[in-house]
Amino acid sequence: MWAKKNPSKFWTPGRTLRIAFLNGTEEFKAATISAANHWLPHINLKFEFVEGKEGDIRILSQEGTFSSNVGTDALLFTDEPTMTLWPHSPNLARYFAANVMHEFGHMLGAEHEQTHPTANIPWNTSALYARYGITDNPEEDDYQARVTREWLHHSYLDRATPDASVYSEYDRKSIMHYVIHQSWTEGDFQVFLNFDLSEKDKAFMAKAYPYPTKNE
Ligand SMILES: [Zn+2]
Repeated sequence: MWAKKNPSKFWTPGRTLRIAFLNGTEEFKAATISAANHWLPHINLKFEFVEGKEGDIRILSQEGTFSSNVGTDALLFTDEPTMTLWPHSPNLARYFAANVMHEFGHMLGAEHEQTHPTANIPWNTSALYARYGITDNPEEDDYQARVTREWLHHSYLDRATPDASVYSEYDRKSIMHYVIHQSWTEGDFQVFLNFDLSEKDKAFMAKAYPYPTKNE
C-alpha cells in the first residue's frame, strides 16, 4: 500500500469522521456502512454515518461510477460529493462491498497499488494501448487518444516517486489494486479482483492511524 507524503493526506488519528449520505436507499446505506466498517478494527478513527449534506465525507449514490477524493482532499470541496458509489443488487453484494472498501481506502489516503513506487509489473504496453484503442506512437494521437494515453499512464503505467511516498511492500492482494489482465503483461502476471482488505492493507493503515501508546 502507498500514500503521498509532504503533504500527507492522512486524517488526524483519533478523530471522528462524519460521513453523510446525500441520497440513496436504506439498502444502499446499510451495504455501504457494513463494507466501510471493515476498516475500523485496524485504524484509530471513528465513522459517524449521518443523513444529509453535513459531513467531512459526502457520499452520492449514482449509477455508473465509483470514485473518491484521497484523504483530506475531501475538505477542499465543501459543496460537492467527495465519494460516488454505484448501488448494486444483492446478488452482486461482494462486488459492491469490494468497491466500497477500495473507495474508503482512498478516503483514508491510499493511492492505487499498481502505481506503487516499487511495483514491478511486466507490462505489455502495446497490448494495453491497443485495448484502449491507441497505438505505440504518441505522434499519431488525436485529442481523444492523447487524453486516453495520459489516463493510462496515470492510472497504470507510471510508478510513484519513492521520495514523495510512504509505502509498505508492493502487494498484489491490496484492495487498492486494479485488475490486470494476463494479456496486458509479458510472461505470467495477472491480478484478479480483490474482494477483501489484505493483511498488508490492514497493517499499513494501522500504522497510518495509530492508537496512542500506553505511556502517552
Ligand atoms: Zn480507485
